Amino acid sequence: MVKPRRQPLRYEDGTFKIIDKFKQNAGRKGGLTTGATKARIGASNGKYDASRARRECCGVISTRSHKSNCVNHRSQQFNALKGLRKESIIITKVNSEDYLKVGGVISWLYGVDANCIGCNQNLKAPKAAKVHKDDLQKNPVRAICRKCA
Ligand SMILES: [Zn+2]
Ligand SMILES: [Zn+2]
Repeated sequence: MVKPRRQPLRYEDGTFKIIDKFKQNAGRKGGLTTGATKARIGASNGKYDASRARRECCGVISTRSHKSNCVNHRSQQFNALKGLRKESIIITKVNSEDYLKVGGVISWLYGVDANCIGCNQNLKAPKAAKVHKDDLQKNPVRAICRKCA
């Protein structure tokens, strides 16, 4: 489908309206519409009202949301939560020097109980990751569970 060409602008008597781009632009030389000279910060802003309570942290009116870079802004709180979650995951690295991988000695471990030296939980020895090499004849054995390995 061919888009119809826009009709040229005409005066009421039928003569064409000529749009002079230079004249149009000349009329806009009075000042900037954006940028630093146009910024109305604080009391220079017509909407500024000193009587309204403002947030101490970022100066925003207290009924409005914090500035996005403020520590109390929602997004920042979310980041803090993410940090907390990271901190709560404590990676316990236990010394596994004298421990053997269960896979190699599993035939010794059927029916044997184990106790994890990392998190102190009781489990079945074949379900552990490693067991102490001196405990293969014992029950229960010292072990390292899969979470602590
Ligand atoms: Zn704030
Ligand atoms: Zn464990």
